[in-house]
Amino acid sequence: MNDRAQQLHNLRHSAAHLLAHAVLELYPETILTIGPVTDEGFFYDFLPTTTFKDEDLKKIEDKMHEIAQRNLPITQTEMSKEDAIKLFANNPYKFELITNIPDTMVGISRQGSFADLCRGGHVAHTGEIKHFKLLATSGSYWRADRSNQALQRISGTAFLTAEDLAEFEKLKEEALLYDHRKLGRQMDLFSISDFAPGFPFFHPKGRAVLNTMIAFMRDLQQKHHYQEVSTPVMLNDELWKTSGHYYFYKDNMYFAEVEGTSFAVKPMNCPGSILIFNSRPRSYRELPFRMSEFGNVVRHELSGVLHGLLRVRGFTQDDAHTYCSEAQLDDELLLIINIIKTLFARFGVDSTMKFAIATRPAKSIGTDRQWEMGTEALKKALDACGQPYTIKEGEGAFYGPKIEVGMQDSMKRSWQCSTVQVDFALPERFDVAFINTKGEREQPIMIHQALYGSMERFFGILIEHYKGAFPFWLAPVQVRILPITDAQKEYAQEIYELLRTNGFRTEIDNSGDPLSGQIKSAQGERVPLMIVIGKKEVEARTLTIRHRDGGAQESGITLDTIVPMLQKLAAQ
Ligand SMILES: [Zn+2]
Ligand SMILES: [Zn+2]
Repeated sequence: MNDRAQQLHNLRHSAAHLLAHAVLELYPETILTIGPVTDEGFFYDFLPTTTFKDEDLKKIEDKMHEIAQRNLPITQTEMSKEDAIKLFANNPYKFELITNIPDTMVGISRQGSFADLCRGGHVAHTGEIKHFKLLATSGSYWRADRSNQALQRISGTAFLTAEDLAEFEKLKEEALLYDHRKLGRQMDLFSISDFAPGFPFFHPKGRAVLNTMIAFMRDLQQKHHYQEVSTPVMLNDELWKTSGHYYFYKDNMYFAEVEGTSFAVKPMNCPGSILIFNSRPRSYRELPFRMSEFGNVVRHELSGVLHGLLRVRGFTQDDAHTYCSEAQLDDELLLIINIIKTLFARFGVDSTMKFAIATRPAKSIGTDRQWEMGTEALKKALDACGQPYTIKEGEGAFYGPKIEVGMQDSMKRSWQCSTVQVDFALPERFDVAFINTKGEREQPIMIHQALYGSMERFFGILIEHYKGAFPFWLAPVQVRILPITDAQKEYAQEIYELLRTNGFRTEIDNSGDPLSGQIKSAQGERVPLMIVIGKKEVEARTLTIRHRDGGAQESGITLDTIVPMLQKLAAQ
């Protein structure tokens, strides 16, 4: 962390203490748990005696300002675990935290009469915490485990300067306007029902966008000789025991018993892909074998963290697995990075994507040589494409290093999308092999890739990125036909059929509203292209077009030229 990042961290950490301090002054019976710093600010989880409502945030925020103005020095000391347990008497959470600390001494921070368990890193006194805001209350669980005590979280943010806070608030205001959940409703793209929290329903227009995204990816994959498969949605527990998911990932999986046997709904597509690879002997001639799947996976997420399309429980991965030899690894990774770059360029999001390589964690399997080879190959591929990246030291999966790509939503929060992972473990666990040139069994390397990542998440971020105004090729409705009066309805229908037959997502405005109203409504729904037809157009068998973003109308366009014209637009 650089100095400023460290300062901001200390400030937000101190603001979390200040929040807890204020809550205790207002609601003395509240039990404190933990209050960490996050990417966006900080939060504190409480076991309160009352349910915090949004109105209470203002009151708590005012109390925080009041305590801040007392200018209390913030001190950091150490005490024995026994004394700390006495200090937090009747708090089972702090008790659990203290007993889990390996040292004999624990850190305590104090400001006035308030004390908290803490490793330090503060501003000097409460008066330095000036520019902050409480943002939300939500539900959470102790240690994020829903079988534990339900808690209440208050989250907020703090900045070093008033300008930074003002900019954050401005961004937030704008982001609210373009929040994908709001636009999704307005544009009739998707909905989420209480009957299926975390499992979105895609309406015709939302499905149209997703289908276009899938078609684009499928096309890219076909160009590069991927072979598409599909694998079952539920698979026997024994398979998940072999893959290791049953031991490492069970809490996030959904199980169902069928005729006395337990099956899990797949949280990942990888084992299914391996079963296809292993379904018959494979020769080196088949390698690299690129197997792709648009696979629906289900992963349990706490209800408190579900967030529109960005964090869901059921989603589609544009998943693919490449089985290759060591000698083919570099070329395969280079190919994948090139596909990622083509993908991002098509959506116009290339400049906002942040690449990172996550390296070997403390607990891992595989040999030093394998890790080195995998990590070096990932670096080489990014370097060869001139793609800048950061290193996330020790953040790889236990079975191999990976590339992670983060994309930002309208609040500049980062969400993971693409991942490319080199895997030595699953081929070993499933005894995957091919017959090499010497006629011997050899274990291939497996590369996992999901380039949109979660299609739902990518779609959600695109809605915010475009502020609902999708480019022509991707728009849920590409063309709306606006007949000036009912007399043009028949001709409107003819144009509609022509465009639909040629694959353009087209609608006719049947509202009977005056033209100005029809234009306003098409612009409001961000339809990229309007076709206006009046008496003159019917007589001449031409049409007039208007673009979403204004500019001059183009009239006198004939029925022969409109289709090639739209095709050209869709290729842009
Ligand atoms: Zn602290
Ligand atoms: Zn995989």
